[in-house]
Amino acid sequence: MIIDGKKIAESFIKEVEIETSQLKKKGIALKLVVILIGDYLPSKIYVKNKEKKAFQAKINSEIIKYSKEVGEDEILKKIFELNKNPEVTGILVQLPIPDHINKERVISAIDPNKDVDGFHPINVGRLASGLDGIVPCTPLGCLFLIKSVEKNLKSKHAVIIGRSNLNGKPMAQLLLREDCSVTILHSKSKDLKAECSRADILVAAVGKSNLVKSDWVKKNSIVIDVGINKEGEKIIGDVDFDEVKKVAKAITPVPGGVGPMTIACLLKNTVKCYKRSNIKNN
Ligand code: NAP
Repeated sequence: MIIDGKKIAESFIKEVEIETSQLKKKGIALKLVVILIGDYLPSKIYVKNKEKKAFQAKINSEIIKYSKEVGEDEILKKIFELNKNPEVTGILVQLPIPDHINKERVISAIDPNKDVDGFHPINVGRLASGLDGIVPCTPLGCLFLIKSVEKNLKSKHAVIIGRSNLNGKPMAQLLLREDCSVTILHSKSKDLKAECSRADILVAAVGKSNLVKSDWVKKNSIVIDVGINKEGEKIIGDVDFDEVKKVAKAITPVPGGVGPMTIACLLKNTVKCYKRSNIKNN
């Protein structure tokens, strides 16, 4: 089974659109503000896609662009201004940002209830503590894809390759929450093949083309490929798709798997930020 991330993402965007339409009838409009620093082409493409899908979900969006020389103070000042603006529901700083700007300081400046990416330490802590909060979009999307194949993940052995704050770590927290036993692998791990071949659920979030081979994969497992690797004009994942699909029960393609779900979850998170900002004692 090939998991159709595009189709599932479209159904999520439709759900968001229904919610935003209902809010619009009450005179409430949601707004997502994206801060884009520099002219890194992939970032520009991601931001354009986010804008397009926000429009589809009836969420207003604004892209604030800065040159790559912009100072950290100017970015922080803008974030504080957006935090205070009641018309702004969600704030996203498109990563990567230039080295002279401290990423942690920028992320920590965002109001946790407007942190649509779920990277603020408060949201990270909430996820780790099993509390409700904003969850990073890519692992959240991966979880929905896994659950589109199998609803009950209790006692499954999940193996995640990659331990980034963006993908691997929050993915592990989400699967732990589902009562999986979780193994996290990284560049210093030994014998990846043996570890992966025990996985009922395998998530690859590495950034290495075709790293996962078919003899690493357990028969009838669920394989989620987060990787985006450019090979000439082609985009390929971390999993050797053509071979692994013969072994796995279900697998995501690249493109058309995790990518569309990331954006759909960003829009879901924008609605959630609106709700969290409007309940007391959250
Ligand atoms: P990252 O921050 O570079 O993290 C990569 C992780 O992989 C690190 O934990 C690293 O280990 C580990 N790693 C590297 N080489 C390895 C190897 N040979 N064996 C085992 N582990 C290895 O990357 P990221 O931001 O998590 O992104 C991962 C991939 O997902 C990239 O291709 C990125 O483009 C893609 N991505 C896709 C989406 C989407 O929407 N589909 C969203 C975000 C990212 P160490 O910690 O030891 O260095």
